[in-house]
Amino acid sequence: MSEKKSRRCSFCGRTESQVALLMTGMTGYICNDCVEQAHEIIREEMAKPKDDFKMQELPKPKDIKAFLDEYVIGQDDAKCALAVSVYNHYKRLMQRNAVDDVEIEKSNIIMVGSTGTGKTLLARTIARLLKVPFTIVDATVLTEAGYVGEDIESILTRLLQVADYNVEEAERGIVFIDEIDKIARKSDNPSITRDVSGEGVQQGLLKLLEGSVVNVPPQGGRKHPDQKMIPVNTRHILFICGGAFDGIEKKIAQRLNTHVVGFDSVQNSHAIDRGDMMKYITPQDLRSFGLIPEIVGRLPILTSLRPLDRTTLRNILTEPKNSIIKQYIKLMEMDGVRLAFDDDALEYIVDMAVEYKLGARGLRSIVEAVMMEKMYEVPSSDEKECHITKEYAKRQIDKSCVLSAPAV
Ligand code: ADP
Repeated sequence: MSEKKSRRCSFCGRTESQVALLMTGMTGYICNDCVEQAHEIIREEMAKPKDDFKMQELPKPKDIKAFLDEYVIGQDDAKCALAVSVYNHYKRLMQRNAVDDVEIEKSNIIMVGSTGTGKTLLARTIARLLKVPFTIVDATVLTEAGYVGEDIESILTRLLQVADYNVEEAERGIVFIDEIDKIARKSDNPSITRDVSGEGVQQGLLKLLEGSVVNVPPQGGRKHPDQKMIPVNTRHILFICGGAFDGIEKKIAQRLNTHVVGFDSVQNSHAIDRGDMMKYITPQDLRSFGLIPEIVGRLPILTSLRPLDRTTLRNILTEPKNSIIKQYIKLMEMDGVRLAFDDDALEYIVDMAVEYKLGARGLRSIVEAVMMEKMYEVPSSDEKECHITKEYAKRQIDKSCVLSAPAV
């Protein structure tokens, strides 16, 4: 009894009989009330935005690029633009409360490149090392308010969700808007209906890019009258946009052709690399494609991704930290089997991807087709080695229907 009396909470000092529960630690006690209070304090502290970054702790653009290099092959221009933009985003956040005449403006990015060249992969990879909330949204689902589809504000719903509904955190975040080209104005659209997913959406998006306070539906989707909205200021949110802009090469070529009519036309026409028109892209081309000038003006960094050539495809197969081949080696390893590919088997896989114009995305389906039978058989067999030769790969591909399917 006397011992029970002497046991007190080391935090509030109450005795065991005064509290509902007293927990024993190595050198002291804690009561249920103090545990709850401590939990509350932790929750509040964690909800506060983290202290602003310290300059020396920030990954420098070269560090960011080196990290991207581990997962994404090539695309150096886009990597550098992305690295610099993210680094400057941190700097801008650091000085946003400072009393200073020089206010650093946002530099949103737009990445243009054919489908499957690594835009989303770049965004996903950079997300791994970001110190701010990050989300990827798809512009195709957006429509003008009042039409079937999602309101523009729903872009920020995802950001709020990843920031655990901490508005201040979300207001420092980064949003990747994929397929931005799908909201281009379709001026030559013969339809007499309104362009509800084009210009109207761009006008709405402009508001977000410019920086304003928008009311965000916490659950996303369509706003409805009795849903409580959360006001979010987009002034410091960085927007990265990506799009394939199919057919923009023609517009670039047209522009270059009209330019080369000038007095130095012969020199210029020699310098133009016809195989990769995308690298000559300018904001003007985005406008001719159907983005309104205000949007183009709000995306000051324009960078393009190169088409993937044969060497790049070959490297994608084996080089990245989580390359397709490494993933299969890992899968087999879990069954205690050592998997190896002959070089000419890999070359053959790349040849198939090139021949059928399947790009990097196709590599996965081809390797999948090559490996399917082995993945099925090997776990129930005694095999300890699995060796993929070119002949075996060819046989498996011929058997499967992967190359008769239309390109994705
Ligand atoms: P996009 O967004 O440009 O349409 P993705 O980033 O979704 O293309 O690329 C599709 C897939 O192709 C990726 O998941 C990745 O496996 C592969 N891939 C594409 N480009 C690269 C690259 N440069 N380096 C490594 N893998 C790539």
